[in-house]
Amino acid sequence: MKYKIAIIGSGPAGLAAAIYTGRAEIDTTIYAGEEPGGQLTKTTEIENYPGVIGRTGPELMLSMTEQAQKFGAKLVYETVDDLARLQSEYDGVILAMGASSRLLGVGEERYWGKGFSTCAVCDAAFYRGKNVYVVGGGDSAIEDAWALTKFASSVTILVRKTEFKASKAMQKRINDNPDKIKVMWNTNLKEIRGERVEELVLDVNGVEQMVKADGIFFAIGHIPATGFLSKNSKILDENGYVKTGNGDWPTMTDIAGVFAAGDCVDHRYRQAATAVGMGVQAALDIEKWLESK
Ligand code: NDP
Repeated sequence: MKYKIAIIGSGPAGLAAAIYTGRAEIDTTIYAGEEPGGQLTKTTEIENYPGVIGRTGPELMLSMTEQAQKFGAKLVYETVDDLARLQSEYDGVILAMGASSRLLGVGEERYWGKGFSTCAVCDAAFYRGKNVYVVGGGDSAIEDAWALTKFASSVTILVRKTEFKASKAMQKRINDNPDKIKVMWNTNLKEIRGERVEELVLDVNGVEQMVKADGIFFAIGHIPATGFLSKNSKILDENGYVKTGNGDWPTMTDIAGVFAAGDCVDHRYRQAATAVGMGVQAALDIEKWLESK
């Protein structure tokens, strides 16, 4: 094989890229990272990935992995902490480390798939007729709450301050539809109780309050997995996301030969399907870039 590349990350973006580079006969090594398969491995049934019906997140990621391996990609269960080392060993690199949802550390991880979610777009339909809460005050919190109103019987946003961080346009959705979404100000989630989510312990204006709940969604931001790139800060924006768009190469960073795709770049859409699309773009770009050198 003429070229060899490294892909950092084994979520939808990294694996989609690997399927394309593998098929292009580029020697491809995927560094699987701390969470092989990425965020989808934490979900249950997938309903919003086109063409996939009745399968779970882990099953989807397993078949993407097998597909990448079928075309020759090698999977290495290692976490990369030095981009320069990879640059010296490979002809090109695709960054696809993803991001993780910010958590609160109030025991929520015990409730993944049992009433706790960080993706309303993915899971709202499972809450038909239910009583649900959203934590957060940004655009995502309002967007998530809005998505939930289509199914849930009651949606309440828990905001830690007395105002939203969300844009005025987003806030208008709530002001124009006061019967659809309730807001509790100055409220922090302290604890989740039940075998699955049944009860929330809240701190409201400094006073403890218990509420019944069927679901709790977090929308308090994401943390891109770009910590190891601190030495390469010129390719990161102020929130730590990788910046792309270098000359004629939409997915290349400011470092020639280093491309990026998926949630470590995208703080807006954050869907498996969009990450896959970006992974494919990065693969096509890196192939053309290698040929152009
Ligand atoms: P943001 O960082 O904008 O907002 C995070 C929110 O979570 C803030 O209100 C913050 O509170 C709150 N928060 C953070 N930590 C905690 C905590 N420990 N406890 C309670 N609340 C907490 O993230 P988003 O995901 O909402 O948005 C990310 C980006 O994506 C933004 O640029 C946004 O505009 C964009 N976006 C755009 C959309 C659209 O236009 N359709 C839809 C969704 C996102 P505080 O206000 O106190 O800091």
